[in-house]
Amino acid sequence: MGKYKQEIISRLEKTKEKANALNEKELRIEEKDIKLLREPKRILLVNFPVKTLKGIEIINGYRVQYNDALGPTKGGIRFHPEVDLEEVTALGFWMALKCSLLGLPYGGAKGGITINPKEYNEEELEEISRAYVRQIKDFIGPMKDVPAPDVYTNPTIMGWMSDEFNKLNEKPALATFTGKPLPMEEIEGRSYSTSKGGEFILKKAVEKYDIPKNSRVAIQGFGNVGGHLAEFLYKEGFKIIAISDSKGGIYSEKGINIPKLIEYKKESGNVCGFEDLKEISNEDLLEIETDILIPAALSNAITKENANKIKAKIILELANGPITSEADEILNKKQILVLPDILSNAGGVVVSYFEWCQNLADEKWTEKEVLEKLEKKMNDAFDTLYNEYVSKFGLDFRTSAYIHSIIRILNAEKERI
Ligand code: NAD
Repeated sequence: MGKYKQEIISRLEKTKEKANALNEKELRIEEKDIKLLREPKRILLVNFPVKTLKGIEIINGYRVQYNDALGPTKGGIRFHPEVDLEEVTALGFWMALKCSLLGLPYGGAKGGITINPKEYNEEELEEISRAYVRQIKDFIGPMKDVPAPDVYTNPTIMGWMSDEFNKLNEKPALATFTGKPLPMEEIEGRSYSTSKGGEFILKKAVEKYDIPKNSRVAIQGFGNVGGHLAEFLYKEGFKIIAISDSKGGIYSEKGINIPKLIEYKKESGNVCGFEDLKEISNEDLLEIETDILIPAALSNAITKENANKIKAKIILELANGPITSEADEILNKKQILVLPDILSNAGGVVVSYFEWCQNLADEKWTEKEVLEKLEKKMNDAFDTLYNEYVSKFGLDFRTSAYIHSIIRILNAEKERI
């Protein structure tokens, strides 16, 4: 069994055990029901030729609809040389839980193409994107499965895909893709919505656990998610003491000036060398003395090898799966508050949902409206977990999030049989 499948099975088993140990009728998870979530509902594998500068190339792609009990499936499309069916499947599983936790009328899906996008020019990427849509067109649609951008895909790519889909269909359906470019009715605020959602969750936790607003923060990753979050937290008065990207990290006990660092990174391409600050490695960043640690880059950054060395009091997971399940147990024993990915980084899918609603209703919402609605959704999810599980039963946030979202999916499945 591959490592992703193992992770899914292990998380489902632990959730079932912990839910059943509560001895609450409403929260029981039966073995016969949970079996459904061990495998995805539908998998589409596509193999298609594309004419590139190298000649005719055969491209492999995937679309996995993990579970659709709560509505049309929703999830990004990733372009990466290491994309494979197992990874796409696991990401679809997490999307199903995330949508359920946030109370969205969606199931979970994920798609991917196994290419290194850096090896192709824009025309070739457009051709690959359009050819992929021609392969998956019958599988997707506004009431079936709604893709969005993910790693190495962006609004421009969603624009090509949406255009290709609409050309192939009699009735154009803008709501088939979210994360489109603004002129194609994308929604305001989508580009930074994951970070905004993370900020709302962190602010709730800081308030509940009496953590001072000027606490120290270390962030791994300074891309779309880590960069925007650093900017928002800096404005709120948090002290960002360490930041890293793929080339390494920087540290300042006094705090880093984030607006200046953003300008510096635009010119230099990375964070190292900024204002001659002390340089640290990515491993050091995870283990430094800080109040809040935010992994915003890679999966499996915190493992059983380094979990014991973590000194932060709160971890806000913005990357997908930055903590392995073994590391999670160690962090729980150390009483570190972990705010899990399916809660903390859900801002992106929430705003994608707003884009879908906006397109279906032919409306245009303002940025202010979008952010107010996002804040309410994120706060409601936090309050549900805190009030109904964490403070009531003493569970950690991840277990609470898994129990809540799995039970919502299983109840929906039963209703429709
Ligand atoms: P991105 O490509 O914009 O940024 C990734 C950042 O990570 C870059 O700064 C890169 O330099 C850094 N990085 C790469 N390798 C690293 C390493 N070894 N050590 C430290 N830093 C490293 O990607 P993003 O959109 O910011 O996504 C980051 C994470 O958040 C991913 O796990 C992604 O799945 C997750 N996520 C993103 C969104 C979204 O809306 N963009 C939504 C949910 C989850």
